[in-house]
Parts: sequence; structure tokens; C-alpha cells
Amino acid sequence: MWSKGEVEYDDRRMSGEMPPDAAARAADGEARLRVVMVVSEAVPFAKTGGLADVSSAFSLALAGLGHDVSLVLPRYREAADAGSPAGRVTVTVGEVAYEVGLFAASLGRDVRVTLLDCPPLYDREGLYGAGGRDHPDNPARFGLLVRAALGLGAAAPEPPSVIHAHDWQAALGPVMLSAGLPGLERLRGSASVQTIHNLAYQGVFPPDCLGALGLAEAAGVASTLAHKTGVSFLKGGIVYSDAVTTVSPGYAREIVGAEFGRGLDPSLRERGTSLTGILNGIDVDVWDPTADPHLPAPFSAGDLEGKRASKRAVIECYGLPTDEATLTRPLVGMVSRMVPQKGLDLLAEISDDLAGLDATFVVLGTGMAEYQALWQGLAARHPAQVGVHVGFDEARAHLVEGGADLFLMPSRFEPCGLNQLYSLRYGTVPVVRATGGLADTVRPFDPATGQGTGFVFTEYSAAALMASLRAALAVFGDRAAWRRIQVNGMAEDHSWDVSAREYVKVYRRAVASARRRAGGTAEQAGPGSTRFE
Ligand code: ADP
Repeated sequence: MWSKGEVEYDDRRMSGEMPPDAAARAADGEARLRVVMVVSEAVPFAKTGGLADVSSAFSLALAGLGHDVSLVLPRYREAADAGSPAGRVTVTVGEVAYEVGLFAASLGRDVRVTLLDCPPLYDREGLYGAGGRDHPDNPARFGLLVRAALGLGAAAPEPPSVIHAHDWQAALGPVMLSAGLPGLERLRGSASVQTIHNLAYQGVFPPDCLGALGLAEAAGVASTLAHKTGVSFLKGGIVYSDAVTTVSPGYAREIVGAEFGRGLDPSLRERGTSLTGILNGIDVDVWDPTADPHLPAPFSAGDLEGKRASKRAVIECYGLPTDEATLTRPLVGMVSRMVPQKGLDLLAEISDDLAGLDATFVVLGTGMAEYQALWQGLAARHPAQVGVHVGFDEARAHLVEGGADLFLMPSRFEPCGLNQLYSLRYGTVPVVRATGGLADTVRPFDPATGQGTGFVFTEYSAAALMASLRAALAVFGDRAAWRRIQVNGMAEDHSWDVSAREYVKVYRRAVASARRRAGGTAEQAGPGSTRFE
């Protein structure tokens, strides 16, 4: 439990701010919500993928709508320079008491960030694992994240309206809230929301980890979380939260079926209309071709001249020839984790056929050794046509988005996907498979009407991918049509504003259900609102 008497925690006091006026209204005219995001990564503190972009940009958008937003995440080694010391607390998880340093930071002006400093758990290589293996103590590492975040919420002058848990790393949040662990009584009326950013990662651990997390005695938890050969944290978040969201309407429809449900589809179906799909937005300040510090020249839909400078820069950066032929030929970009989800197996099937196309390829990614070797082999065989950089490189990711003509995302499944949204904004035409958020965000180009923003194929096969790529390359030769597709995509608004408002609606429903439950009867308690009292 949260140690008593050590600190009365007020993250606003930590950052020297005055508590906001409790009666203040948010953009929807209702009372402002106090939201605590529990999340394992956030730009600029720590990032392995889209979750980090999403948690930051979404938090900022929510604060922009007048809500009081704070974010709690581990102070990993890569975030060691972030924040300033703001106190120490003892957090007890199960039987173990951890000494945790609190580091205060912020996002923009309005979002408060608390980084949890606990070197034995977080000061090491890799957020979730290293050398291709998960850290074996991940249950403790993310158990502490959740328990500390809940403790901070419970110690705050006003308890949070919403605890928002992201992915399996935070999914013990709804479980611990429901279990009514000692020290969390003040959170009785707080709602919990679980967001699934990727159902493929379920946080499955040996069942005995529950004892170490202080959850072995909580009625029903062990049996509810049972999944495959162990217990799944994400399943706990799905079952015990007041509301479940995922990151696109398409993915929300897919994951309630057996094909994409990865064994959790029965639990997801149980949630009925409490499961909502809300499209991710993008941070339009960080991903802005008119003001991107990683690009050699700005560009916009009205003036695409600067995009040529980016194309030259990215070709140079990959050590490819900068002759006129290469500068004119279509440049296909890919920035991706190199895992089967992203369609790497399809690309493996046709890798040498790709080199037969009249196109140049620039690839950035890191992941499974066999896929890295695949691209590196292709680059070695076709050094003038294929450039590969294995690694994680934010600046280069921007340059690829800026300089490429087409962007390849042949995913097997894609909860939302961000790179196709960045591509649309950068006039880089996406070639995607129609799945999850890709199907929701890329409109197939129709030459008859000039409508559409990209090229879309449905069947998960190398042949369908190749046909779509060939179709895109054929249209590339028609300058007017190509410009039309680019401008169509660049005109779209994928900022967070709209989606953040959708989340607020989910929060308000969850808050109402938590209130009913806190004062409530068994009859009022809906699915997912199980308590142990
Ligand atoms: P996912 O979260 O499944 O990896 P998304 O498309 O939602 O996929 O988000 C990926 C994010 O990570 C994007 O911001 C992308 O630019 C970034 N990214 C992925 N791989 C790399 C890399 N090797 N270097 C830099 N950024 C990367």
C-alpha cells in the first residue's frame, strides 16, 4: 500500500501551479475531469512505438479541452535526464516495499508528468526487454507503475475522476481498483478506462505473480485473469474497467471476432457497447511539413517544392545515388517495427521482385533479426536501389516521411497505425492493406473521380501487395493525378481534437457508471464493474 504520512501528494504543487478551479467547466460545458494517464511510454521521455506518440498528443489535446490531465510513467534509463526531483515515497506492492523517487516534468504548459524513479526496476537497457528477451520481472516493474500511480491519485487533494490505463502494462489499474486494495479507498468513486493499443501484447505471466502483486487473495482475480498458460494483465483491464476503448472503429469490430481476438474475444464481446473504437490522432505540431526541423525545407499542399529537397536529402542520407534518374524515380519509404504484424513476411516473399520495379526503397526499422537481415541482404544486392537503416531514429523517420513519394504499410493487422497518418499529412501516398485503422483512414484512389488518398489491397498475399504497389507506381507517372492524391491526403484533418472529444464522452459515461457503483446496488453495477467489498 501507499506509505502513510510521508507525503501529501499534489502534483500541481510539485510543478508550482495553483490547483485549478474545481468549478471550472471544460469545452463540452460540463465539469472538468481530472484524468490520470497510466502509461509505459510517452514522447519525449521514452518510446518504442506509436503508444508513446499517442499518450503525449492525446494528453495535450485533452488538456486543451479544459481537463486536468496528469501522466505517470517509469523513469527508465533513457529518461534519466527528464524531470526534477519532487520527493520520495515508499510504495508497497504485495510484500515488497519500493523506495520511489518522484520526478516532476510536464508536457506543454498543461500536462503534468510524474516519472517514477526506481533504479532496481527501471535503470537498465530496454523498456520491456533486451537482447530479444522480455525482462523477467515485468510483472513487478509494471505492478509498481500501476500501484504508484493509484497511490498518487489517492493521495491527491481531489481524487481523479478517471484512471486511464493504456495497454497491458497499465491494465492492473482497473484490477487493483476493483480489488479495493488497502490505501485506495479514496478512489472508490474513480472510473477506470482501459485502452487497447495492440491486442497482440497481452501481458501473460505465470499465475504465481499475482501473489507478489498482492492480488492472490482478491476474490475472483486469479480465475478472471486466467488466460492461455498463465494470467493476462490485459484481460484484467478488459474485464474490470468501466469502459474499454481501442484505437480505431475497424479494430474494435475486428477484435470481437475469433480471427483478430487472440483468445480475448469472448471477454471483449462480454463488454458489449462498453467497447468503443476511437481513431488515434497525430500531433500536428510535431508532424508538420511546414515546420519540421528534420526536413531541409518546409512544404505544404500549396507548395510542394520543398518535398523535392527532402527527397534528395533522404536519398543522400541512405548513401544512394543522387543522379537525376534516382531523383525522378518514385521513392518508396517504410518506417516500421520489423515484426510479422507489419507484413514483413509478405515483403520477404517478394523482396527480389521489389528490386525489379522501377522504384527506389528507403527502409528504417528495427526488430526481428531475420527481417533486418532480409532488408540488409536486399540492400547489399541492390546498393543503388535499396537503402536500409536498422535502428531507431526519430530524425530519420521524419526525413523518410518528408522525402518519400509512397509509404508502404502492408500490415497483417493494424490497430490504428500512425505512419499512414503522418504520410497523408506529408504528401507521401500510402500503400496499405485494408485492416483495422488502415482501412479506416486511407481512402482508395479512384481515377474516375479523382477521389481518394492512397492505394489499398485486401487479401493478405504477396501478389495483392505487388499489384497494389504496381498500380500506385503506374499512377505516379501521371503528375496531375498524383498531385491530386497528395493534396487530397494533405487536406485531411487527423489532429487529436475530434478524437479527444470522443474520449471525453467515454469518460463521462464511465464516471456515471463508477458513481452508480460507488453508491450502488448490484443491479446497477454493469459488466466490468465487479468490486470486492
Ligand atoms: P506501432 O505502434 O505498431 O509500432 P504505429 O504506426 O502506430 O505502429 O507507430 C509507430 C511509431 O513509431 C511511429 O511514430 C513511427 O515513426 C515510429 N517508429 C517505428 N519504428 C521506428 C524507427 N526504427 N525509428 C524511428 N521511429 C520509428
